[in-house]
Amino acid sequence: MTDRELINMAVAAAEYSYAPYSNRSFGAALECADGTVFTGCSVENAALGATICAERAALCQAVSRGYRAFRRLAVYSAQSADYCTPCGTCRQVLSEFSPEMELLCARSDGRYVSYKLRQLLPVTVPRQV
Ligand code: ZN
Repeated sequence: MTDRELINMAVAAAEYSYAPYSNRSFGAALECADGTVFTGCSVENAALGATICAERAALCQAVSRGYRAFRRLAVYSAQSADYCTPCGTCRQVLSEFSPEMELLCARSDGRYVSYKLRQLLPVTVPRQV
């Protein structure tokens, strides 16, 4: 799957966002190590802290289906003129499973930049195993 195809899946996922408070819809597409892709959208809540980001929605779907190793994640917002990067909480949650994964951060015009998760979260909380 190309970067563009993965981003297009994130774009499609953003259509399902529940965003009555921010009016900013987000979509994510998470590619597993075997090529399987899970998508997610942002789900806002009146209690702001209960909001679920698109990245974590996709990740929870994947983990709930038995997937725990990931290669890439694309994230997109139709309302973002700047490149859309995961929030700190999502970076931490993603790093629990695949700290070496690649992030494709798209903006509303479809252009994107690529980061390694380690670049955006160089020091992580040690896993408590
Ligand atoms: Zn987030």
